[in-house]
Amino acid sequence: MSDMTLAQWQYRQAQLNLPTQAFIDGSYRDAVNGATFDCINPANGQLLAKVAACDAADAELAVAAARAAFNDKRWAGQSPKERKLVMQRFAELMRLNKVELALLESLDMGKPIMDAMNYDAPAAANCIAWNGEAIDKLYDEVAPVEEGALALITREPLGVVAAIVPWNFPLVMACWKLGPALATGNSVILKPSEKSPLTALRIAGIAKEAGIPDGVFNVLPGFGHTVGEALAMHMDVDCITFTGSTKIGKHLVQCSGKSNLKRAFMECGGKSPNIILADAPDLDAAASSAAAAIFYNQGEVCTAASRLLVQNSIKAEFIERLLAHAREWVSADPQDPSTRIGAMVDGIQMEQVLRYIDIGKQEGAKLLLGGQRTLEESGGFYIAPTIFDEVTPQMRIFREEIFGPVLAITGFDTLEEAIALGNDTDYGLAAAIWTADLNKAIKGSRALRAGTVFVNNWDGGDMTMPFGGFKQSGNGRDKSLHALEKYTELKSTWIQLA
Ligand code: NAD
Ligand code: MN
Repeated sequence: MSDMTLAQWQYRQAQLNLPTQAFIDGSYRDAVNGATFDCINPANGQLLAKVAACDAADAELAVAAARAAFNDKRWAGQSPKERKLVMQRFAELMRLNKVELALLESLDMGKPIMDAMNYDAPAAANCIAWNGEAIDKLYDEVAPVEEGALALITREPLGVVAAIVPWNFPLVMACWKLGPALATGNSVILKPSEKSPLTALRIAGIAKEAGIPDGVFNVLPGFGHTVGEALAMHMDVDCITFTGSTKIGKHLVQCSGKSNLKRAFMECGGKSPNIILADAPDLDAAASSAAAAIFYNQGEVCTAASRLLVQNSIKAEFIERLLAHAREWVSADPQDPSTRIGAMVDGIQMEQVLRYIDIGKQEGAKLLLGGQRTLEESGGFYIAPTIFDEVTPQMRIFREEIFGPVLAITGFDTLEEAIALGNDTDYGLAAAIWTADLNKAIKGSRALRAGTVFVNNWDGGDMTMPFGGFKQSGNGRDKSLHALEKYTELKSTWIQLA
């Protein structure tokens, strides 16, 4: 199926039944107020669907349903091996519906269809399966205390978890929350981005088909300041788990403090440095990776390597190689299977990126590639891959997350200087260092203040590795067994023996 042509993808699109209603207590329904918002195809600017615009009234219904499901233990009360089987069925049904999920994702947010086929849809299913598999393999603890007592340290689900997620990897970000939150026995209310609600809505029905009980998994499409805010301020929501911008992450921590001190886990933005030393084992591989690390997913990646730091002794040569690879990233129709870089998620995001390109020009950075909108005749929101050289740490394009295909290059002379430049940021999500010298690799990776450090690669990792940020890139971690801790409370039970 993955060798479908553009025409075949278009045919599949015409057959699609787009999910547009909220999912509450096991059934699809309109928003209480009857309102909808427009879901636009960023490839051509045309209306795809009108989706339920939920607000506080829908949040009330979903929280009540989620709470009732949690209280009567219809999910957490099932045996671990039963819940594991349900999660595996959920993952299997996602795999069976891979083409549909990939197409919805590509249509909704503009990413290349083959990226959605090769990464988003299978990675999301794998995340559910991986967390499901963990359910009957995690043990609690017995504390080493005196003979006269039995002391238990156990983990219990939090209760009602609200997950608020962004639009750049809508399905994968949702499953990074959903997987561990469901595995630990919570009820979940998922609020997808208003820019990309479709796959979240689709998997609600898939989860039900797999056997997730009614009320345990609810999906509320709508805007952040309405339904998102209602969830964040709700007195009966036990946890807000978020992926998105640092600005909104800071706001949601405050919502927790202003309401019920709900657990608040934030995965936020980044401005990640990619450090190339002159002794990198393969400069061409490093250059190819540097291009992919900023242009993949239109640069709409929290861990995009948006700052390229290159040792001055090889900088000119490296930039030649980089440009050769960058020219392979040509903006085109996201549904064409040969496309490597698609459309920006919407006009607002495109305008934001174009503003930063203007700022870079005004600040005196040297434009090497791109720097403008492209394919305007399509009606879609495309930006040509863009590279600036001679970027200094004072410039806004060095400091601020652009969230688009815009690379900032800065030169350095020594490893110490590279580390100082790399850490000269409010963010701390990811970083990389390319070198054949073991000592430099270890020294550099220890010194870089980031949740993930790559050595001689960018973006290595799988479900076994935690993912999250230092500093203003967030708190808490998604993925790996560590993520499960976020969705549980620790209980100490001291049993005095007679
Ligand atoms: P965003 O912060 O604008 O929105 C994220 C979500 O929050 C959306 O669902 C939005 O509707 C909701 N929201 C907005 N205002 C709200 C409010 N007042 N109350 C409650 N919810 C509200 O971010 P975005 O533009 O959707 O996503 C891009 C950002 O996400 C980038 O900064 C990127 O780095 C970050 N991101 C981080 C990670 C990570 O794992 N660290 C992964 C992907 C994306
Ligand atoms: Mn959309």
